[in-house]
Amino acid sequence: MGKLHILMIPYPVQGHVIPLMELAQSLAKYGFKITFANIESTHKCILNSLAGKNTLHDQIHLISILDESESGEDKSVPGKLSEAIFKIMPGKIEKLIQENNASKDEKITCVIADQSLGWAMELAAKLGIKRAAFLTAAAANLVLGFNIPKLIDDGIIDNDGTPTIKDHTFQFEPTMPIMNTSNLVWTRMGNLAMQKIIFNMMVHNNKAVKSADWLICNSTYELEPGAFNLAPNIVPIGPLLASNCLEPRTSPPVVQSRISSKESPNSLAGSFWPEDSTCLNWLDQQPLGSVVYVAFGSFTIFNEAQFQELALGLEVANKPFLWVVRSDALDAKTDIFLKNYVDRRGRQKGKIVSWAPQQKVLSHPSIGCFVSHCGWNSTIEAISNGVPILCWPYFADQYMNQSYICDIWKVGLGLKKEGNGIISCGEIKVKVEQLLGNDAFRKRALQLKEMTMGSVKEGGRSHQNFIRVIQWVKSS
Ligand code: UDP
Repeated sequence: MGKLHILMIPYPVQGHVIPLMELAQSLAKYGFKITFANIESTHKCILNSLAGKNTLHDQIHLISILDESESGEDKSVPGKLSEAIFKIMPGKIEKLIQENNASKDEKITCVIADQSLGWAMELAAKLGIKRAAFLTAAAANLVLGFNIPKLIDDGIIDNDGTPTIKDHTFQFEPTMPIMNTSNLVWTRMGNLAMQKIIFNMMVHNNKAVKSADWLICNSTYELEPGAFNLAPNIVPIGPLLASNCLEPRTSPPVVQSRISSKESPNSLAGSFWPEDSTCLNWLDQQPLGSVVYVAFGSFTIFNEAQFQELALGLEVANKPFLWVVRSDALDAKTDIFLKNYVDRRGRQKGKIVSWAPQQKVLSHPSIGCFVSHCGWNSTIEAISNGVPILCWPYFADQYMNQSYICDIWKVGLGLKKEGNGIISCGEIKVKVEQLLGNDAFRKRALQLKEMTMGSVKEGGRSHQNFIRVIQWVKSS
């Protein structure tokens, strides 16, 4: 008999692909065949990071489902990519499943898709296939989504998601983030067109996602007790980290813990850019707990004034720093500024790379703190390594994550903007000093790390949930 075959579909952006790929690797070691379907550009990036191989462990088959003309990957046209993902991709996936399942062997019996792709749940239900939705953000994000009708009833937002009261704050539960109507996932999407797309997607998804057999997420009960109380149908299996995804073993998998080693054979899997590992040797040369790691994920772009202020802030903070500056985030002017900056002053104290092996960086003993945009993956990776965070949210759910970090877990600090909207170099210096100078942040971060990582150890609650998911996939 062939292997049980799972079709996995990410939302095709970096922060969604990495954790789903980590889940794919965790599942692959239990002997499933996995088809991982992407749009062409994302598929190509992943292949590059895997040096051209289109299989992982011979069990994860990476395929492209939409070519570049179909997916309209012109990022300057808002909503074009979304339209392709929501209008063209469903038909392609249906065809893929039907063609695959027309053969006798290795029929697709389960679909695991990003929770934002509600259509994938509807399609699987229509075809009589098991289905799980995977949430790459905090569970709190979905609790917010489930509560949209109540927020409308309470007059906090209108039917389009626009706040009726500016800067109104609310909290669903004492261990959940403090939310502000100006900083909701959809009100922080940059423009009104994107606000509408994201808001409507969340409203539509509520129904589709609730119809999934499983709603799994990259979090833990310990990190978000309030959110899981309010939405017990969300099941945490996190933290999903590359170091948890090991090669398939010959020993019986069900009794084995997902954490066995810090070294992952495939830490690259899912990265859209090549990692610059020279920074790990550089970190080896730095004093313990001294380095300020600065990275803002795959989307964030600063204007020229803010970029320069950050560079100066790192300089005056006078600590060793490792700064990720993506090449696509640089325009000609910033590029020249950066070159001069490196030549002039930055060289002694800092290292700049265009993409880092972030999970390895955060687990390095030289790291003292993380200046982050608070993407959920970056947040969970910092927490899993006991690293305090200096929060610099940029859009979407990152403000909510900042509230978890600063107000609920108390493992980080926020940065204040000046009247002109810029975070000054002085503010950066002061906050880096406060974070590194106060042991309480590191102490709490280490406690949170213990709790979080305990969850994926054998017997931990995320581990137990993961085993239940495996058993469900295997059941007939
Ligand atoms: N990342 C990385 N190297 C970098 C910067 C980021 O590998 O130099 C990874 C990071 O480890 C995380 C992902 O990219 O897994 C970013 O996801 P996140 O949710 O933090 O932010 P997004 O990119 O979605 O805004």
